[in-house]
Amino acid sequence: MFEDKTDDSKDKNGDKSKDDKLKEAAKHLSDLFKNMDGNSFVIPINGIPGEPPKPPEQENVTEEEEVDVLEKIREFDLKPKEVKAHLDRFVIKQDEAKKVLSVAICDHYNHIRESLESDEPELSEYVKQNVLVLGPTGVGKTYLIKNLAKLIGVPFVKADATKFSATGYVGQDVEDIVRDLVKIADGDVDLAQYGIIYIDEIDKIANRSNGGTRDVSGRGVQINLLKLMEDSKVNLTSQTDMMSQMEGVMDMMHGSSGKKRKKTINTKNILFIVSGAFDKMGDLVKLREEGSQIGFGRESVANADDYYLGRSTTEDFIKYGFEPEFIGRLPVRVACRELLPEDLEKIMNESEGSILRQYEADFRGYDIDFKMLPSAVRSVAEKAYLQKTGARGLMTVMEQLLRDFKFELPSTTVKSFVADENTVKSPVTALENILKDSEPADLEEAEKLIVTYVDEFEKLYGFKLKFTAAAVKEIHRIHEETATGVLDVCRERFRDYPYGLDLINKDNPIKTFTIGVNSVKSPDKTLSAQIAKIFKEK
Ligand code: ADP
Repeated sequence: MFEDKTDDSKDKNGDKSKDDKLKEAAKHLSDLFKNMDGNSFVIPINGIPGEPPKPPEQENVTEEEEVDVLEKIREFDLKPKEVKAHLDRFVIKQDEAKKVLSVAICDHYNHIRESLESDEPELSEYVKQNVLVLGPTGVGKTYLIKNLAKLIGVPFVKADATKFSATGYVGQDVEDIVRDLVKIADGDVDLAQYGIIYIDEIDKIANRSNGGTRDVSGRGVQINLLKLMEDSKVNLTSQTDMMSQMEGVMDMMHGSSGKKRKKTINTKNILFIVSGAFDKMGDLVKLREEGSQIGFGRESVANADDYYLGRSTTEDFIKYGFEPEFIGRLPVRVACRELLPEDLEKIMNESEGSILRQYEADFRGYDIDFKMLPSAVRSVAEKAYLQKTGARGLMTVMEQLLRDFKFELPSTTVKSFVADENTVKSPVTALENILKDSEPADLEEAEKLIVTYVDEFEKLYGFKLKFTAAAVKEIHRIHEETATGVLDVCRERFRDYPYGLDLINKDNPIKTFTIGVNSVKSPDKTLSAQIAKIFKEK
């Protein structure tokens, strides 16, 4: 794959101009480094003396890889409902956005598949379904698109529009984002050309009146993005990106074996998704529709901003400061909704990528079984909602809440803990209690802890356990013998009971379940026998 061609003297043709070009490029790069931090840095033409040259990070595209990519896209046969069902596993709410994105994704990749199969792909009149997603921060815009890209297997890259400048000298050049996509695809241009580019904060490049002056650079970025969204060729080496320049030089130095590395990428088949909060849009739409601004007059809609954002038209976007051609290239528009406390609660409980699942996994890493009571999840959701950062608030609240637990518990004998609403209210006291509960307890203290366990079991699984006196004694004996906290003994012994009781409950509705001494001694065996008995009796 890689051939060492560092010894230029072996070049029979003695290609002087190539050599000169190399020196020139190396000097240019050295100057760039010098300008960057004031340190001079000399690029050796033949690599670092005495060291074998390293192969370039991006491997040359082989025929085999190319076939793989094409096959992947050619095999695309998902239906919008299947795509949405996949998104439903991760993203809570945002049904409209899920539907719209599912359809746009299917259209886009179906079209690519068809054009790959067609003899005359250029004749197709397909208009690319670039999407504009509106909505406040932290409501799942990025998460939706990330999950879509993962489902299809294409590379995905995200950037903020505010980073771009019209010239590329001050900020990033818009084309850098396409080059980033190639990097994410490990240099595989054939894969990158079917990737997804997501540009957030697009509302910040609106060419709006700003205290009398118009933001001209915003307009420039819009025009540059517009070209990208259509059908343009982007050079894989950029004037301003040092890594690309280095790679260019390396290529020239080492030459390349096999198929030549591509120099450009076409953006025709790249799907662009742009988004923004558009926090002033609600006012604009309301003004157009009702002649008054939000906040004035009678408000009949609960989430006014959400409602009006969803009703924005091309005209509103132009008024907001977008070039008609730019907004015209974003034919698919959809609004993501604000996440209410109950949505945040649902995210914690149901999303497969939920932060709660992550914390459970983190604690499992220390062999600690961590659970949250529904009341604790609700408290966290309510606290997170107040932060007004969507689901990101959940991460902040959970981090602050569990920081000390994560630090302290792994170094103790504690093997489990269950957070309730008091844990959320006063985490310091809750942590102290956990540490206390794992200490040696006499029979009376053990009994109290078992009451706590019964309570948490009911709240978590809906079944009331009733421990016989002999069972309590046996738990206390195990606690002393194994030096394991009473709560840990219970949680560990009856770990599988929720599932077993569910089974029993299906055919024989029960609310209260008695735990005798045998259940404590051999929990699984006793439970299996009880389940078998119920089924035999049927
Ligand atoms: P933004 O809308 O600003 O792009 P993100 O999609 O980056 O927000 O959300 C940040 C994180 O919050 C996600 O990675 C995800 O874990 C979680 N999240 C946000 N919205 C949702 C949602 N609707 N359903 C499930 N998780 C969500």
